[in-house]
Formats: sequence, structure tokens, C-alpha cells
Amino acid sequence: MNGARKSNTLKLAVIGGDGIGPEVVRAALPAIIDAAAAYGVEVLVTELDWGGDRLLAKGAAMPDDAIGIVRAHDAVLLGAVGHPGLSADVSVWSLVLPLRKALDLYVNLRPVRAWNGVESVVRNAELTDLVVVRENTEGEYTGVGGRVHTGSVHEVATDVAVHSRRAITRVARYAFDLARARGQGVTLVTKSNVSRHGYALWDEVVEELGVAEYGDVPLEKTFVDAMAARLIQRPASLGVLLCSNLFGDILSDGAAPIAGGLGMVPSANLAPDTDSPGVFEPVHGSAPDIAGKGIANPMACVLSGAMLLRANGLDAAASLLEEAVGVAVQTDEGRTPDIGGRSTTASAGETVRAALASAQSRAPRTERLRL
Ligand code: ATP
Repeated sequence: MNGARKSNTLKLAVIGGDGIGPEVVRAALPAIIDAAAAYGVEVLVTELDWGGDRLLAKGAAMPDDAIGIVRAHDAVLLGAVGHPGLSADVSVWSLVLPLRKALDLYVNLRPVRAWNGVESVVRNAELTDLVVVRENTEGEYTGVGGRVHTGSVHEVATDVAVHSRRAITRVARYAFDLARARGQGVTLVTKSNVSRHGYALWDEVVEELGVAEYGDVPLEKTFVDAMAARLIQRPASLGVLLCSNLFGDILSDGAAPIAGGLGMVPSANLAPDTDSPGVFEPVHGSAPDIAGKGIANPMACVLSGAMLLRANGLDAAASLLEEAVGVAVQTDEGRTPDIGGRSTTASAGETVRAALASAQSRAPRTERLRL
């Protein structure tokens, strides 16, 4: 996405975060480092203790100069946010949303695909290879709104959804380019039959752009309720789903069972064509029910690492890592309980590393050293 990599180092900020976050990052990071090393790139890691524990101890999830620290890196790998000692909105608004906003990470990419060896509860999922492109700066996530008459029987609360032509255009352009590169179509997901202002603007802007610049990319429009059903009934019929912030969030979680569950779905927060580092994180949250048990699936985090490598010009390393995940989840050692296995988080991560080493030993050296 950012073109070929020119440096042989990659500066990576790593935030384990809350719950299972530190566990999955610990298991995934060595495989990510190995994949980069296979192509001659050294990953320089800065570990950051940001998250709920820091907020409770020091009053802030991140230091004052957090954005400057992040900007000194090429990318951020984030485990999960959501601390049992904090309300869910505090966790999200103290770390992940400020990062997305300050860095203007306007694209949230969430690929969902079927994996050999991982059973899906969704029938007909086998050939699915879709990606949710979620607008990441506006919609229902701007924080605009408020409450009046608080605590009284007349209490009123509002959350104002914000949809701008600029934000729709830039994310739609990204989705069209991606669909063109993947040889797929774009499916625009709205609710413009009910939300007649914001989602009507989505329809207009995306259609205009499609006609003006992407005549070769098929575009279809659907309502979010119909899409919820289609994801379960005919997921393989989908390519690139272009969604608002809220719909992309919900549908990508809803699509996770296609891949075997939340433990298999990665994501990337990107500001394409800028110098902002991307933030790469599993779609899952902190999963407090299994935190500390050593059974969390690290694959979503490994796959987020693959997206990170690709966004930093290391396409071949990213593909190698994804292939290694594909091999690992077909073995007993590579499958944690959520995808039908008995492996631990650590051993699943090690299985990816072993698969990677074995794939590397088969690949021609010239191919491996190409940056
Ligand atoms: P949060 O409030 O931080 O979003 P949550 O528990 O509400 O946390 P998720 O963390 O997204 O939501 O996960 C929902 C459930 O899915 C978890 O409770 C857990 O059982 C399962 N799950 C999520 N991620 C994983 C994983 N990596 N490995 C195994 N199971 C997982």
C-alpha cells in the first residue's frame, strides 16, 4: 500500500493493551519478526504499557506525548482494549479512538476468509474471501451529542451521526481501488431508505465516483439488514463491502464466524498516501472470559501483523506469514479451543513460526531477499 520498502529496518510500536491483548501479542510477535527477517528486514520493537492498567494507575491510558511517540514509528501493533475495571466506553475513548482520530486513520480494513482446517458454523463459507472497508473517522463515532435533564424522567440523550462528502469520497476511492486490485466488486452498505440524509449522501457520492472513475468495477448497493442475512446465506458472493463506521463494525464481527470466529479476523487502521503509521489490531476485544488462561487464539494478531507488513511494503513477507497461518491451523498444535483444537496461545504462535521456517527453507533465496 505504501509502495516497496526502502529501509531494512521497521520501527514497530507494540501495545499489548488489556485482557488477552498482551497474550496474543506475545505469541504473534515472534512470527511477525521472523517473516520480516526472511526478507532482510529487522523489526525494531518499542513496547508500550498503554491501556486500562496504566489508566487506573496513572490516570491516563497513554502519556501526553503519545501521538509523537507513535509517529516516530512505522506502525503500531495493538493487542486489545477493554478493561474489566473500566466502563467499555472509557477504554475505547482513552486509547483506540484517540489514536485513530489523531492519526486520521480513515480506512479500517477487516478481511474475512474461510480457512482450510477451520470449521465454520456458516454453511457455504468455503470460498469466501471478502473484505470490509469501514469508514473510520465519522458516522456514529464522532462523540457528537449529549444528555439533558439527566436523572429525571424527562432525560434525553442524543448521538449525532456525522457523514461528510470528503470522508465518504476518500474511503470509497480506497474501496474501489482495492476491489479493482482484487478483481472483485464493491457492495455499498447503507440504510438510506430510513436515514434519508446521511446515507443518501453515501449513495450519491459513491455512485458519482463509480461512474466518473471506476466504470470497470461492479458496484451494487444494499441495505444493512439485507446484508446481515446475506453474510450468513451467501458469503462467497461478496467481495469488497463499503460501510459506514457503525455498519462496518457490526458486520465485520458478524462475519467473523465465516472465518471460524473472532480469533481469526485481523484488521488494519490506515491513512493511505500519508506519513501516518497504521494501527494493526485483531478485530476481537479483550475477551475477559478467557484472559489469563493461555487459550486465546493468536491468529487474528498474527494476521494483523501480516497486514502490517504489507502496508509497509513487505508484500512477500506478508504472504509468507499468511501461508504459515494457513498451514498452522490445519494442525492440532496450531488450533486453540475456539477453532476446535486443544493448543495453547503460545504453542499456536510457535506452530506458525515452524510453518514459516519450513516454507522459507523451500523458497529460493533470491526471492527471499527481495525487498
Ligand atoms: P470487549 O469488551 O473488550 O470487546 P468482549 O468479551 O465483549 O470484550 P470480544 O473480546 O470481542 O468481546 O470477544 C467476544 C468473545 O469471543 C470472547 O468473550 C471470547 O469468548 C471470544 N473470543 C474473542 N477473541 C478471541 C480469541 N482471540 N480467542 C478465542 N476466543 C476469543
